[in-house]
Amino acid sequence: MDPFEDTLRRLREAFGAGRTRPAEFRAAQLQGLGRFLRDNKQRLQDALAEDLGKSVFESEVSEIAISQSEVDSTLRNLRAWMKDESVSKNLATQLDSAFIRKEPFGLVLIIAPWNYPLNLTLVPLVGAIAAGNCVVLKPSEVSKNIEKVLAEVLPRYLDQSCFAVVLGGPPETAQLLEHKFDYIFFTGSPHVGKIVMAAAAKHLTPVTLELGGKNPCYVDDNCDPQTVANRVAFFRYFNAGQTCVAPDYVLCSREMQERLLPALQSAITRFYGDNPQNSPSLGRIINQKHFKRLQGLLGCGRVAIGGQSDESARYIAPTVLVDVQETEPVMQEEIFGPILPLLTVSSLDEAIAFINRREKPLALYAFSNSDQVVRRVLAQTSSGGFCGNDGFMHMTLASLPFGGVGASGMGRYHGKFSFDTFSHHRACLLRSPGMEKVNDIRYPPHSPRDLRLLLLAMEQHSCNCVLL
Ligand code: NAD
Repeated sequence: MDPFEDTLRRLREAFGAGRTRPAEFRAAQLQGLGRFLRDNKQRLQDALAEDLGKSVFESEVSEIAISQSEVDSTLRNLRAWMKDESVSKNLATQLDSAFIRKEPFGLVLIIAPWNYPLNLTLVPLVGAIAAGNCVVLKPSEVSKNIEKVLAEVLPRYLDQSCFAVVLGGPPETAQLLEHKFDYIFFTGSPHVGKIVMAAAAKHLTPVTLELGGKNPCYVDDNCDPQTVANRVAFFRYFNAGQTCVAPDYVLCSREMQERLLPALQSAITRFYGDNPQNSPSLGRIINQKHFKRLQGLLGCGRVAIGGQSDESARYIAPTVLVDVQETEPVMQEEIFGPILPLLTVSSLDEAIAFINRREKPLALYAFSNSDQVVRRVLAQTSSGGFCGNDGFMHMTLASLPFGGVGASGMGRYHGKFSFDTFSHHRACLLRSPGMEKVNDIRYPPHSPRDLRLLLLAMEQHSCNCVLL
């Protein structure tokens, strides 16, 4: 017995009947999503605190308010984004109507991870609804409390004939992936990303893969160490380091390392006090499995700051490691916890070479008082996103696409990029049924004059059209 069959059939029928296509319907669902966030704010905050020890500040900034803002800005722009987009024409189509229609794919599957379990479920959902799709949402089974709220409460705010929340871990998700979807949007690890892509390939289903990796952070000698330390520590230890775009390791000179260490210690004490375990601002590791994994990484290099842990509280202190070898596990896997290795390089060239011999990261950070240095790192590397002189502030702009490149993923979303991701861009040309005489030049038998005229008629300023 397939537990998903009935649900998927119901959603497909609703899509086939055109329920999700009208702008009014899409707007009503987005408003429902907004109400879900407002009505259940306390419950969501509690669930995030139970799952990840998130403070109200972190829950608001990175989960609830950010999802609400995506809903609101999408509602403001929905009708404009849905409009057909006129395109330029050639001589042969001057009297015709040529445009791109943004049409929904159909039945979309969204699979979410546990680290921002609300944001990374709802923000893609906003785009999928706005684009007129039916959606199956598969939240992470690891963030159990948010999963429960999404399963029990969210459906009351949405049209259940078009949107469904399904539950399960790897075996259930594998079974779900056997079904044919029209689009799959996956956020998670590169390992599972490959499983999802292989399953999608069986049905030729297009995918967006929002994956992870190790995000380098280059620090130039001319920087003010305290400013860098504040910014790096804030973004490294936010959500206890369990952030796909967190600075994963620092590359700097030995001299800068010596100046950064006291500055990082001072930032950590300022943010979390003398004993960070008592700080309400520091999150907790999601579960024992990840706690054990992170505890293992504390053995790499030498602990310069922090290093304490408490298994019963799933607590790992904000930690800085030095003297780390590139071959050690902490430099071989995405850290995804409150541990920051500092690696020394002797020049900017060496830092760039270090970055470029690894997989392309989701984000890359460069700190320098010299604009030239920041721009050189930008020009000579590749990554999903880039921020000069700060952590993942670039993500706060819905006007920028968010996504990876190479091993950190494919595709993009946020704001209009989400709408476009969940829309098929259909090429449309509406011609007149009359004026058949002008088509004579394209029908055989062909003469050199016909060919000349036809090539002229097909010529276009902005496009090299291929004949017929
Ligand atoms: P994960 O890949 O283990 O799980 C993600 C989702 O896939 C979950 O819903 C899970 O149930 C499902 N899943 C797990 N194993 C599966 C399997 N074998 N077959 C089918 N489905 C399976 O990722 P995670 O541990 O939840 O999240 C951490 C990872 O996600 C990190 O690598 C992180 O960098 C990445 N991430 C990326 C982004 C981004 O926007 N690029 C955001 C957050 C997290």
